[in-house]
Amino acid sequence: MSWLLLLDWLSSQMQRGAVTIGAMESPVNLFNPSEPLPISTRSAAERLFPTLTDAQVARIAPHGRRRPVAAGDVLVEVGQKPVPFFVVTSGALQVVRPDAAAGDRLIVTHRRGQFTGETNMLTGRRSLARLRVAEPGEVIELSRDELLRLIQSDAELSEILMRAFLLRRAELIAGGFGDVVVVGSAHCSGTLRVREFLTRNGHPFQYIDLDRNPDAQELLDRFHVGPHDIPVLICRGDAVLRNPSNRQIADCLGFNEAIEPTHVRDMVVIGAGPSGLAAAVYGASEGLDVLVLESNVPGGQAGSSSRIENYLGFPTGISGLDLTGRAYAQAQKFGAEVMIARGVVSLDCGRQPYAVELDDGTRLTARAIVIAAGAEYRKLQLEHASRFENAGIYYGATPMEAQLCAGEEIIVVGGGNSAGQAAVFLSRTAARVHMLVRSRGLADTMSRYLIRRIEESQTITLRTETELVGLDGDVNLERVRWRHAGTGAVEASDIRHVFMMTGATPNTSWLRGCLCLDERGFVKTGPDLSHDDLAGAGWPLPRAPHLLETSRPDVFAVGDVRGGNIKRVASAVGEGSIAVAFVHQVLQR
Ligand SMILES: Cc1cc2nc3c(=O)[nH]c(=O)nc-3n(C[C@H](O)[C@H](O)[C@H](O)COP(=O)(O)OP(=O)(O)OC[C@H]3O[C@@H](n4cnc5c(N)ncnc54)[C@H](O)[C@@H]3O)c2cc1C
Repeated sequence: MSWLLLLDWLSSQMQRGAVTIGAMESPVNLFNPSEPLPISTRSAAERLFPTLTDAQVARIAPHGRRRPVAAGDVLVEVGQKPVPFFVVTSGALQVVRPDAAAGDRLIVTHRRGQFTGETNMLTGRRSLARLRVAEPGEVIELSRDELLRLIQSDAELSEILMRAFLLRRAELIAGGFGDVVVVGSAHCSGTLRVREFLTRNGHPFQYIDLDRNPDAQELLDRFHVGPHDIPVLICRGDAVLRNPSNRQIADCLGFNEAIEPTHVRDMVVIGAGPSGLAAAVYGASEGLDVLVLESNVPGGQAGSSSRIENYLGFPTGISGLDLTGRAYAQAQKFGAEVMIARGVVSLDCGRQPYAVELDDGTRLTARAIVIAAGAEYRKLQLEHASRFENAGIYYGATPMEAQLCAGEEIIVVGGGNSAGQAAVFLSRTAARVHMLVRSRGLADTMSRYLIRRIEESQTITLRTETELVGLDGDVNLERVRWRHAGTGAVEASDIRHVFMMTGATPNTSWLRGCLCLDERGFVKTGPDLSHDDLAGAGWPLPRAPHLLETSRPDVFAVGDVRGGNIKRVASAVGEGSIAVAFVHQVLQR
């Protein structure tokens, strides 16, 4: 089968503007070489492409090498990794996006005092663009490691470079400069998963919605792409993946290529939610060799929160995606490595250094382990519930889910803060939000400020003593039934979207037999470990476990996965940072 035809067709759709970019929904006309990047104001352009002073350039020079460059030299090719960093001291460099049909599309020209790069300088991922010499001159070249050392030691340059890298990646996403096209449907659970995976990894992509492009469906039919193959993902211009797993996408885009698996790390962190990212930031910034392993995407539960309003320092609130996206960049800035879409399936705690085994069979070793695997929302225990996951049943409420159910009646199940937050957030776009809670009210389980917003909302209907009892539909959820506990009455409604926010269970099944867990499966730490627990686990040291240390020396547990943890972003971040202080102590032993 020739996929070239499909690629040709996709390219024509892009020129017609029938493609949306990244997580944005408004169609954007792409690949028009005459259109510059949409840089709205002069000050924004200055922050994106700042010019360093002579003194700042002089501070960079000892970290790298000066080298002459000739017009036409290609310094970085599309797909290259790791990507070196260049500061122009004379002449000019151009960043271009090669396009065989329309010719190279110029993104930006860097002149004296300006520098190259975006977030892939931190992540070690492949280059999305080509860097070529437009006018001969001289540059200072730094390898990725040299750049990381520079930004860890020079706060002023770190601020200028980090801000420019992050803004440039945002512009690449907005301008559709990605190397990924997703062809999918809003009615397909895999499409939501893939779009979320790319968005939460900050990877630019173009999206073709089959529901709005009937000729796209026709074309896929001709290539025998069935409903089970949706979404189709075209990766880096050539590989065509049918309904790929997150791991396949990560592999195709080379997310983990820069990570070397064989050497013994100071600290391996399992989970990249707020607690794991905090441990990574503090550990790496204090000189530890840190690797974070994440089975899905960085951000954890917090990443699926529409707006976190009670995290210190953000009086107007911040979306979970923003908060954890910044933490992810910060961890990488200090040199922590983050492996994406690789879950830990077991901990070999019988000998030190400890080893963890990944779901692809890789073994990684570390002198200290921080378990930050968090918790997962309780699944709905009803017939067909798993079939409708992401096809009507959701366990997070972000702008992406809000788009899917705009203008419709929806259900939020749960009486805690996350349910309240989801109801208030979704009530802005949904026609009506039915909040189903088993108890008689919200007072015992929800913060007062959220209860007030729910009471004042014209769009939210609180249904107490009520639970879901039935789900119907074919591929997608089409109808639900709920029962009132007091009267026993069952009501049916043509509601197609249910948000489950009913508390969490810890991600610890892979730890059984290795660490002491409490009766609900959370990891026991520090003073919560009794003499019997320690004797049973064979605790070998004369000292008692440190705060946050588990029943194995040098293995710590932080955040929602830990018994007794207050399930909040702030406590997760606090515990992640405290654990690092104890890791230093045990590594010095
Ligand atoms: C919708 C929602 C809204 C919320 N709103 C707020 C709020 O407003 N304020 C507030 O303070 N708190 C809020 N919370 C709670 C807060 O998000 C959590 O307390 C916090 O995210 C816990 O952080 P954590 O790092 O301990 O765990 P998690 O956030 O659960 O992260 C754990 C990470 O570990 C990964 N993982 C799990 N198992 C493995 C494995 N075996 N191998 C590798 N990786 C693994 C997971 O994929 C995940 O990314 C909210 C939660 C939700 C779901």
